[in-house]
Parts: sequence; structure tokens; C-alpha cells
Amino acid sequence: MKILVPVKRVVDYNVKVRVKSDQTGVDIDNVKMSMNPFDEIAVEEATRLKEKGAATEVIAVSAGVQQSQETLRTAMAIGADRGILIQTDAVLQPLAVAKLLKAVVDKEQPQMVILGKQAIDDDANQTGQMLAALLDWPQATYASKVEVEDGRVRVTREVDGGLETLVLKLPAIVTTDLRLNEPRYVTLPNIMKAKKKQLDTVTPQDLGVDPSPRLKTLKVSAPPVRKAGIKVPDAATLVDKLKNEAKVV
Ligand code: AMP
Repeated sequence: MKILVPVKRVVDYNVKVRVKSDQTGVDIDNVKMSMNPFDEIAVEEATRLKEKGAATEVIAVSAGVQQSQETLRTAMAIGADRGILIQTDAVLQPLAVAKLLKAVVDKEQPQMVILGKQAIDDDANQTGQMLAALLDWPQATYASKVEVEDGRVRVTREVDGGLETLVLKLPAIVTTDLRLNEPRYVTLPNIMKAKKKQLDTVTPQDLGVDPSPRLKTLKVSAPPVRKAGIKVPDAATLVDKLKNEAKVV
């Protein structure tokens, strides 16, 4: 069974993002970029399935600028067997990514696609669901446990009231939640090995997809700066301020 894992290059989660002065987006010049954390979990899960013998090949795929190659190399250092870069400088929105991924699925014929539940830059939480719709495959989002059994995948999901278990017929789409696993540290020997793994580059045109944005961003602004807090001497003053100043009680 082949597993396809889409990985996105995003601003590193430790970086404090800055909004551009013209409010058209977020400044990514000279900013540390990394693999989207939920995608690292997806690569780890696919690698574990391969190590258990449930999968035969793990393919990482990324759509974006040329530097996304680094993200693919990281995926290969975790355990992906090869990588595919869909190279474009276009601004990619979830529907465009889902269409590009569908074209790769049509070509590679994986039995499972494991995506992150969301990318931490746009927080869209849409690509996996859109891909499932385009392929007409079953989907299990926010997975906290994934078990492959006899042409099916059993997925445990954390929902408000507890745990929900879904059994999907393969081929299927799974999206990862934080508690699914803890990705392994990438070791130097594995980084070196990853450099020798196969990395193919295609363009959206090669895949017959027009990735042009369908939504227009009107404005991006930073959240308002929080006012400094004050210390109150006792509970009575606190209640008084909540009632008469903040007017929340
Ligand atoms: P989103 O719908 O943008 O929140 O992204 C959800 C998931 O879709 C991510 O965690 C990735 O697995 C995948 N994804 C989104 N954008 C890309 C991209 N440009 N290249 C590869 N995978 C992507």
C-alpha cells in the first residue's frame, strides 16, 4: 500500500509573525520556515505504518516555491521514501492545493492520503476535506489513532463527548490531530540519507491544474495590542471593577 503525505512549508511555529505594513499579508522575508507541525505528525504516522508492514511506500508531496524542497527533504529524513515538488510561485489556496493533490493521487494511485488537519499559517482546515470530495473518498479528520486492517482503516477521533471510532474502506483520506503521535527527532545520518532519495519536480501545468486564487484577501491586520493589567487589593475591588469598569458581570 502506498501512502501519500502532503507537507506544507510554513512560518516556523516559534516565530512571532509580523503583518506587512501595507496590510496585504504576513512578512516572510528572512523568516525561519519549517514543515507544518501537523504534517510532521502525518509523515511520522505513515512511516510507522510502513515500519509495521502495513504500507510499502511513503511519498511526500509539497506544493509551493522551490525552497519547499527542504520541507520534502525533512519528510524524507523522517522516513518518506521519495518526494514530489509541485513547483509554483503562485499563492495557493486550499481548493487549488486539493486539485493539485488530486492530480498526484490519480497518477500515483495511493491507498491512503494522510494530511495535517490544518496548516498553521492560514488555519484553513479545508484541504483534506476538499480532496476527499474531489476524489469521492471517505474521510476521517482529526485522527488520534490510525490502524490499518484488511483493506480498511480504523480511525479514532477525539470529539467533544469522548472518542469516536470510524472504519473506512480504503482508499481513504485521514487528517492528523496533535495527539496522534510524537514525531521522532531527525538524525544527521537520516538527513544525509534523505539527500540521496528521489525528488521529482512537476508544475501545476504538467498536472493540468490552474492554481489561481479564487478568494481575494482584502486586508490582514495584527490583533489589537493588549492594555497592561492592574493589581487590585482585594476581591471586593475586583468585583466592583468587573461590574462598573469592564461591565462583564
Ligand atoms: P489547510 O487546509 O490549508 O489548513 O491545510 C491542511 C493540510 O493540507 C496541511 O496540513 C497539509 O497536509 C496539506 N496542505 C495544505 N497546503 C499544502 C501545500 N501547499 N502543499 C502540500 N500540502 C499542503
